[in-house]
This record gives sequence, C-alpha cells and structure tokens, in this order.
Amino acid sequence: MTKTVIVTGGAGYIGSHTVVELYNAGYNPVIIDDFRNSKPWIIDRIESICGGKIPFFNVDCQDELAVKKVVENYTNVHGLIHFAADKAVGESVAKPVQYYQNNVGSLCAILNVMQSCNIENLVFSSSCTVYGEAADPAVTEETPIKEAASPYGDTKITCEKIIQFATKGEGQLKSTLLRYFNPIGAHPSAKIGELPQGVPNNLMPYITQTAKGIREKLTVFGNDYDTPDGTNIRDYIHVVDLAIAHVKALEFLDTAANNSAEPFNLGTGRGSSVLEMIRAFETENNLKLNYVIGPRRAGDVPMIYANPKKAQDVLGWTCKYTVSDAVKHAWNWEQSLGN
Ligand code: UDP
Repeated sequence: MTKTVIVTGGAGYIGSHTVVELYNAGYNPVIIDDFRNSKPWIIDRIESICGGKIPFFNVDCQDELAVKKVVENYTNVHGLIHFAADKAVGESVAKPVQYYQNNVGSLCAILNVMQSCNIENLVFSSSCTVYGEAADPAVTEETPIKEAASPYGDTKITCEKIIQFATKGEGQLKSTLLRYFNPIGAHPSAKIGELPQGVPNNLMPYITQTAKGIREKLTVFGNDYDTPDGTNIRDYIHVVDLAIAHVKALEFLDTAANNSAEPFNLGTGRGSSVLEMIRAFETENNLKLNYVIGPRRAGDVPMIYANPKKAQDVLGWTCKYTVSDAVKHAWNWEQSLGN
C-alpha cells in the first residue's frame, strides 16, 4: 500500500521540490500550505513534473483542528515533513512574536495531531543557524548549539528542543532534525523554484533578479572578513539534493530506534565565497553581473560549511549536483518567470 506523507509547507521552495522527490520515490505526498509564501500555480507545476494529481489542502498549520481533519482523510499516514514556517531573519527581528507564534505554534499543533493520529515519523526543517559562529567552521552535529542571534534562529533551536522532548515523552514519535545549509537552484525542468516575496534577502535570488534587471545591482555585504577573498563563505546546496535527503530521512526513520531524534547536517561539505558565487553565476550563464562591495550585514558569520559525513554514512545520501548546476538552474527558473 502506498505510504502517505503529509508535507506542511509543501508549496514552498524546499517543500515543493521534496514533494516531487517523494512522488518519484513512490510515496503519496499530501500538501498542507496556506500560500503565505508561495502561489497556487506551484501546485499545478508540481503535478506537471510528477505527471499525477497531488492532494492539496489550504490550511494554516497553527490550526490544529484543521490539520487533524486533513490527516484523518488518510488511513496509512507514514510520516509528516514539517516545512511550514516563517524564515526571514531580518523580519523576525522586527516581528518576533509573529515568528514564535507561527513557528513554535505550528510545530506544537502538528505534534498534537501526530500523537492523536498515531503518526510516528517526523522530519523537521532546521537550519545551520543553530550553530551560530562556530570555532571550527566545518560544523558537525556535535558542534555546540549557540545562543541565537535572531528570533528566527531561536525558533529553530526551540523547535528542535520541543521535538527532542516530545520524542522522549509518551507516544511513538521518531524524528530527524535536518539542519540545512544554503539551498540554491531550482528544479532542472525550471517548473518550480524559489519565489521570494518583495526584495530577496538571500544571495542567489538577489543575483538572479539583478541579472534580469529587476534589481539594479547586488551589494556584497563586506569584503574585509578573515577569509581568502574577504567575503563570507557558505555551503550552497542544490535544492533537489536537499529534497532527496528528506526522502532518505524518512527511510532512516523506518529502522531508527524508538525515541530517536537525530540531527543531520545537510550541506555539500564545500564552502564558496560570495565572490566565487558571483563568478560561477557569470561563467556558467555567460553574462556579467552588476555588483558593488558594501558594508557588512549585521549578524553574518564569516565562514560556515557542513561536515556532511553523518548524513552520508547514516542516510546513505550524497549530493549529485554542483554549484555550477545550481546557478544555471536558478537562472533558467528566473528567466521562466514573468516580471
Ligand atoms: N549576501 C550578500 N548580498 C546580498 C545577500 C547576501 O553579500 O544581497 C551574502 C551574505 O552576507 C552571506 C551570503 O551572501 O555571506 C549568503 O547570505 P544569505 O542571506 O543567502 O544566507 P545566510 O547564510 O545569511 O542564511
């Protein structure tokens, strides 16, 4: 019998790519999303890639009863992947209560539903932001969690803690805490990708929008860091590789011990500087990007990248795409969008 997987935030950037990979792997993904950070046509695009219907429910995940009603439609719910959350660091500083209410509130709601509906397997979207500025920039899952620099980061740390306690409490919960590095790129079909609202906060959509002429120029946030070219170093991972890791995490939960709440770093293990990303984008797409060097952005750590060994060894997962692929796919996606 096909296993149903509930995907909250399944119309979002990482969620939509994960729904495709779940479908490819033979699961029956069911999307819950209220489009606060996506668009209804993304569902059509997912279906066009999959070549089949994907059940979809327009529900706010804070609404526990509504989520429960969705879940109760299905008899064989194998697991839940919880993406639905607010994710803009700067906005979280301006609107901290909204971030705690939505991110923590949604998690508590879905945990209650999982317990009352006897759903055992939870895959949670976390972030490498939980490590803050680490002494060794190649972080492992044992790298200490740091006091968060933003309400957003603190909601991820808080949600991880809630899940760890919930997993050890009564009930059958097993969980994975997936700590994402920097997802970039888009589906190779260019049918789904990132849909930033307003001015992008993240580097890659800012680059593609600048190349397209929507933004006049990219500002590089500082070139006086203690890194080889002075700009920040991050671990940029293709969104499809990240999506596939969620399928692997579900498979891992099948055999995981009871009460297991396992963190995994999802990154490539390779760091790239901001200038290297600009060069890669220019070279792969054969164009010139208008950019200037500006001041540092508050809260940026100079260098962080994943040690992905645990995810490789335990999940049997490795990245198949390169940064070169990702910058091409990101540009194809941007060009496919209207203005
Ligand atoms: N960055 C930049 N200009 C921008 C956006 C981002 O120079 O307009 C840099 C930022 O300082 C960081 C990197 O790009 O070093 C990745 O930033 P992003 O916000 O995408 O992800 P973060 O790692 O901060 O979560």
